[in-house]
Amino acid sequence: MWLRNFFAFSEVDRVGHLRRDAAWLGERIVHPTSRFVPVWRDRNLFHAGAEPPRAALLPAHEVPRDAGETILLGSDDAGAYFAIDLSAYDDPMAVLGRPDDLEFADLRGIGPQLDRGHASLLAFARGMVWWHSRHLFCGVCGSPTVSADAGHVRRCTNADCGISHFPRTDPAVIMLVTDGDRALLGRQAAWPQGQHSTLAGFVEPGESLEDAVAREVREETGVVVGEVKYHSSQPWPFPCSVMLGFTATAKTTEIIVDKTELDDARWFERDYILNHSDDAEFRLPRPISIARRLIEDWLGRS
Ligand SMILES: [Zn+2]
Repeated sequence: MWLRNFFAFSEVDRVGHLRRDAAWLGERIVHPTSRFVPVWRDRNLFHAGAEPPRAALLPAHEVPRDAGETILLGSDDAGAYFAIDLSAYDDPMAVLGRPDDLEFADLRGIGPQLDRGHASLLAFARGMVWWHSRHLFCGVCGSPTVSADAGHVRRCTNADCGISHFPRTDPAVIMLVTDGDRALLGRQAAWPQGQHSTLAGFVEPGESLEDAVAREVREETGVVVGEVKYHSSQPWPFPCSVMLGFTATAKTTEIIVDKTELDDARWFERDYILNHSDDAEFRLPRPISIARRLIEDWLGRS
């Protein structure tokens, strides 16, 4: 079964085949049905004070031409969508000419209350703008780069180099380790009091996803895992990850917590989790997280 996690609900077609179609792009970027998704210093734009929060998708005539880097996000039956980076301005509201009824805010906090399609579109925009902002210079020769292919490539301007740089996504594995009716959950010191979650970590170069799962679990808790099964994935462009969810069965159960990574890790009985309401002793991660999805599926609640 194909499972979609939060931030993965966009119905917008990314239209990769149109990113080099200059005529189509030139027409769409000024078309009255096109919508712009502004990003300002890692923040997305919302209608101020809306309950529930609503994403602000602005028509072309409300966004000054050349206000910032534009990136084609995609297209659906309603029109095309472009991200625009307003980070160069100290007062982006003045650029938009609508200072009173719009506000920039962090998508991570507001996301769960948004329309799922809009949340996914805003996450895509934020991730692309972030990537552009950190690849202004070629990592090979140090020359400036310029945006190409409607914002999906940055190309080195040095004719002797000319290398293309592509948007970066860092794969991270996240896994629910079980031993019969027990699940291995850890917590980091910086998390809200009592919050426990699945283990997670970045995939290293030259490493399979299954090996990354086994390595991270062993590093963080000392537990050796056997069978590893893929579950689902979640885009996490905060700033540039994709979470790859797995379940794994434990071959050993003794826990030795790596205190540089975790504050604590323990086996929790299924009945304890099912019967415990959130408090300072134990609470689960946020409902939109793939970690929560992995746990809920194991509990049989989702
Ligand atoms: Zn270069």
